[in-house]
Amino acid sequence: MIEQIRIAHLQFPSLYMMAAALMRPSEHYESPRFAGLTFTLEECMDDYAARKGDYVFLPHAHGDGPLPPESRRRGNFTYFDDWRGFNLPSSALRAFRDGSFHPLLRKERALLHALADCPEPYYLIATYEGGEPDIFAHEVTHGLYHCVPQYAKRVDEVILGHSETTQPLFRQLLDRGYRADKLYDEANAYAVTGLISGTPAGLAAHLAPLCNDLRMLFAATFVLDPGSPGFADELRQFTSQVPYGRFEEGLRNERPQRHGVR
Ligand SMILES: [Zn+2]
Repeated sequence: MIEQIRIAHLQFPSLYMMAAALMRPSEHYESPRFAGLTFTLEECMDDYAARKGDYVFLPHAHGDGPLPPESRRRGNFTYFDDWRGFNLPSSALRAFRDGSFHPLLRKERALLHALADCPEPYYLIATYEGGEPDIFAHEVTHGLYHCVPQYAKRVDEVILGHSETTQPLFRQLLDRGYRADKLYDEANAYAVTGLISGTPAGLAAHLAPLCNDLRMLFAATFVLDPGSPGFADELRQFTSQVPYGRFEEGLRNERPQRHGVR
């Protein structure tokens, strides 16, 4: 099974650099608005800011239903605060390689440069220095779900078996901006590595049996206990490190030539 797992891990020195390089590839892969489409950075930013009021990154004090207009006006481009890790299959980068997203950002070209030697297919995960170990574990769990279909099938079966308890979690994930077809994958990653911060204690208790079953499935499949202190470190056996130096090299290659003429 290990042979079929090809998770490439790229760690950035900052959350900003990571999110700036991965925003369009990630939105192209799985955003509710842009999945499968091509779009400019400006379109992506404008749409994200406009939709901001629809999501519950703001304190969710209004209960169910759409946010009131005054909250909607608070919409802002907060992407770099909202997303702490990224994951996507190498196939999602194809449109960036084939010119569909022309012109690429410098950071997108550097990303392709950094990954040029990774044999396809692989699953890319990105984290940043100083990010919590849970974020790395969360992204690796996505990678395992993607790379091991027999594990994904069992995860889906377990979640289906808890269908009477999953609706509040799915509602929270949709509010958070996840696509409907990613709910099982996300629910599993959160269940294995820790629920979304701010999940009410009542909901967490309600979901405890589901989380427990998904952790037991993970432990049985990968012979690793998600509750053990060294869990995140143990997960490194499933990843291969993409040196950040390769990304920097890509950025250096892209530096525009400046001539001393005014
Ligand atoms: Zn996730």
